[in-house]
Amino acid sequence: QNHYDVLIIGAGPIGMACAIEAKKANLSYVIIEKGTLVNSLFNYPVFMTFFSTSQKLEIGGLPFVTINPKPNRNEAVEYYRRVAEKFALNIHLFESVLQVVKNEQNVFEINTSKTNYTAANIVVATGFYDIPLLMNVPGEDLPKVTHYYKDPHLYAFQNVVVVGANNSGVDAALETYRKGANVTMVIRSGELGPHVKYWVRPDIQNRIKEGEVKALFDSELVEIREGEVDIKTPEGKKTIPNDFVIAMTGYQPDFSMLKKFGIDLPESLCPFYNEETMETNVKGLYLAGVVCGGLDTHKLFIENSRVHAEMIVKNIVG
Ligand code: FAD
Repeated sequence: QNHYDVLIIGAGPIGMACAIEAKKANLSYVIIEKGTLVNSLFNYPVFMTFFSTSQKLEIGGLPFVTINPKPNRNEAVEYYRRVAEKFALNIHLFESVLQVVKNEQNVFEINTSKTNYTAANIVVATGFYDIPLLMNVPGEDLPKVTHYYKDPHLYAFQNVVVVGANNSGVDAALETYRKGANVTMVIRSGELGPHVKYWVRPDIQNRIKEGEVKALFDSELVEIREGEVDIKTPEGKKTIPNDFVIAMTGYQPDFSMLKKFGIDLPESLCPFYNEETMETNVKGLYLAGVVCGGLDTHKLFIENSRVHAEMIVKNIVG
C-alpha cells in the first residue's frame, strides 16, 4: 500500500503543481515534505513581498486573488494552503526523504525519516532554500549571525551589518533601518545587485545617498567577533561595533542529495536533465522547480518552472 506511480519530494509550489498534474492524469502519487507545507515560503521574512504578480504564482489554474500589485509572503502561504485543501493533495508533512535507489526490477525504493515507499517515478522538487552559501569567515557560527532574516523588530536600536545587496539584503537593510537599527551594508561588488526589485531600488539608493544606511562597496566581511566585525574595504581594514550580522549571501540546492540519488552533476553544478521531459540521467527520476538551476538560483522561479509539472506528467503518461 506504500507503492505509488509518482513520489514527489518537496511540497513547495512546484512539487504541489506536479501533484495536481499527477492527480489530473489519474496517477497515484504522494508528496513527501520534510517541513511544513511550502516550507521555504514559510521561512521567508515575515514582511516579504514577491517580485512576481499573483497571477504568475498560480498553480493548478486556481486564481490567486489579492488587491495588492504584488502579493506578500503571508498571502502566498495561505494561497498554497488553500490549493492543497481544494485539490485534497496527498502530502506527508514533517518527513524527510533520505535515500532513493532503483532496485533490480527497475522500481524506486525510497527511505524516509519515518518509513519506506516504492514508486515507479520520482520527482525531486526540493528547491534551494535549505543550504545557505557561507562566507567562510571566522565567527560565522556565532549566534548573532543569521542566514535567514525573519523580522526587523529583533534588530531595533542595534548595530547591524547586512552582507549582500540583492533583494534579500536590500529588504533586510531597509526594514531594520526603519526599526531604528544602525545599518551598515557590506557589498562585495561596486553596486547594488542587478535583480533588486525596481520599486525598491530608488528607496535603498536614496537611503544610502542620505547616509541613513551606510554602504561599503567593493568590501568584504573578514572576521566576526562578539561586539565588533572587521571589514576589508578599498581604504583598508575597518573595525566597527556590531550586535548582529544578517548574511544575505544566497543559497544552494542540496547537491550531495542529488548525487546520492545518482543524478549527474557536471562541474558547473547544474544538474543534468532533459529540457523537454525534465528526466535526469536516471530513467524515471525527474527534476522540477528551482532545484534545476543548480547554483544559478536566479534563472528559475515559480513563473517559469511551474510548467515542469505538465512536462513531467506528460512524459510519464507517455
Ligand atoms: P521550494 O519552494 O524551495 O520547495 C522545496 C521543498 O522541498 C521545501 O518545502 C523543502 O522543505 C522540501 N525538501 C527539501 N529537501 C527535502 C527532502 N530531502 N525531503 C523532503 N522534503 C524536502 N520566486 C518567484 O517566483 N517569485 C518571487 O517573488 C520569489 N521571491 C523569493 C524571495 C526569497 C527571499 C527567496 C529565497 C526566493 C524567492 N523566489 C521567488 C524563489 C522561490 O523560492 C521559488 O521560486 C519557489 O519557492 C520555488 O518553488 P520550488 O517548489 O521549486 O522549491
